[in-house]
Amino acid sequence: MSLLEVRDVKKRFGGFVAVNGVSFDVEEGMVFGVAGPNGAGKSVLFATISGFYRPDSGDVRFAGRSIAGERPHAICRAGLTRTFQTPQLFASMSIADNLRVGAEFGNVGGEDRVPEILRMLDLEAIADRQATNLDLFTTKKVVLGAALATAPKLLLLDEPMAGFSHSEIEAYRALVERIRSEWGVTVIIIEHLLDVLIGLSDRMLILNYGQVLFEGDPEEVRHHPEVVEVYLGGATQQDGADGRAAGSSGDRAQGSSGGEGESA
Ligand code: ADP
Ligand code: MG
Repeated sequence: MSLLEVRDVKKRFGGFVAVNGVSFDVEEGMVFGVAGPNGAGKSVLFATISGFYRPDSGDVRFAGRSIAGERPHAICRAGLTRTFQTPQLFASMSIADNLRVGAEFGNVGGEDRVPEILRMLDLEAIADRQATNLDLFTTKKVVLGAALATAPKLLLLDEPMAGFSHSEIEAYRALVERIRSEWGVTVIIIEHLLDVLIGLSDRMLILNYGQVLFEGDPEEVRHHPEVVEVYLGGATQQDGADGRAAGSSGDRAQGSSGGEGESA
């Protein structure tokens, strides 16, 4: 049994089908990478898996049980936590309290892990600082910490590295590795820089127009004709993709082929 089973999931908005019959499995202990052009349906897929949207058809099974149609907090308590593309923190609270809120929202046992999480993320020294005016990397670490405090079995990270410098990408990548190896958390991560994702993932999914274009071994991605077409063929924005989701990545290059250093 896979930890997550996504079966023929569809999610439409009126006549527009944002996620169109997507199926894949994620095994426990994996880092599973998701990519695809802007507007391909990646964030809507995350929202549908994590209970923010109910799938119009298809099924989502987590740890052997259907969670389709359950509320986000129930899914979170079951051990599936998602971060958002646009970071959301409680600005009036301290960094540590932001993690405690995560613990409260999430699974049993999260609160005990807060000090340990702060240590791992190198946030101990600033734990009592208010979570405002933080630089992007620190903000993303606090978001990650709050998500980890829910004690997830499966963590969905929506473009956490958007806007990072090369060294920040490396540092965050190392954190994801530790989360997996030391904490045993399975991770699904969206990232648009293919080289970064290939290096990090055990398995990859490429979405295009709401459908699976590729699913399999990351090393095969570069040689897959349709993926090459989408990433190098000049496709930048898809129909319907607009400023709504552009907060952190909408205007960044999508056709990156080894352009890891170009993060703004
Ligand atoms: P991405 O792959 O860039 O994360 P999204 O999953 O955010 O793309 O969006 C997929 C498509 O669904 C886009 O065309 C987007 O405009 C559309 N979409 C997303 N959310 C909504 C919504 N609440 N109502 C209508 N259309 C939406
Ligand atoms: Mg998105």
